[in-house]
Amino acid sequence: MTSPNAAPVTRFAPSPTGYLHLGHAFSALDAAAAATERGRFLLRLEDTDQGRCRPEFEDAIYEDLAWLGLAWETPVRRQSEHFDDYRRALGTLDQLGLLYPCFCTRAEIQREIENAASAPHNQLRGPDGPVYPGTCSHLTKTEQDRRIGDGEPYALRLRTHTALEGVGTLTWTDVIRGEMTATPEIFGDVVLARKDTPTSYHLACTCDDALQGVTLVTRGEDVLPSTHIHRLLQALLNLPTPRYRHHQLLTGPDGKKFSKRDQSMTLKSLRELDWPRERVLVEIRNRTT
Ligand code: GLU
Repeated sequence: MTSPNAAPVTRFAPSPTGYLHLGHAFSALDAAAAATERGRFLLRLEDTDQGRCRPEFEDAIYEDLAWLGLAWETPVRRQSEHFDDYRRALGTLDQLGLLYPCFCTRAEIQREIENAASAPHNQLRGPDGPVYPGTCSHLTKTEQDRRIGDGEPYALRLRTHTALEGVGTLTWTDVIRGEMTATPEIFGDVVLARKDTPTSYHLACTCDDALQGVTLVTRGEDVLPSTHIHRLLQALLNLPTPRYRHHQLLTGPDGKKFSKRDQSMTLKSLRELDWPRERVLVEIRNRTT
């Protein structure tokens, strides 16, 4: 675990798949403030989903953050430029015998879950959606090799239960909630490399927080469930565990959590309306409870 007394290294890690909104502004300001004057504030672009990322969203992120008065260290880490780091981590997990290729499509997974409807343990939902029913975990090596050789697309999944057997009880410190015990099994056999990308959010985020020396991860409480699996990956990959601060989410005009769908409140649109920074801060304060 990282020392609570050292000057914190924090980060803001948006995905350039849309324009930032007030909730992102809150999150970025929170991360920068948590770095305090002695700490460091980093920016990371989580752009592994290349099909959904667009250069104009990335440009807007820089403009939005500068408009908010934030300064971040350069160079900015762009995940799409570091696929080798994630491949290396996958290699380590593979050597531990903890990965398997999964050829299933979403529709096949759904069908399998419905067919197993009489077995309630197979219907669980995890933080990322339905828990994978384990279909491909039973394939023989010969079968795996044949399908890969035939050019079938595959994802790589973690054998979560096997992984857990070797690590004992895992905990992390959440500076708001206190000591937390990790329950990564809620994810089932989580995807660590997607069919179209040699990583997933969970793997890239965990590797990068360590590679960038982040000591305090600040992010919205909607992402808190992910920390359960990130903590397991840290244990398996021998990475340090930062402290976490899962902050509250802003509420939108309808009283619901803010989301990218609230396009009228993108930071870009507020900039274009010539809002002063102070008004953004007031708006954020009004939307925190
Ligand atoms: N790219 C993720 C998001 O925008 C970041 C989550 C995190 O901070 O770990 O939700």
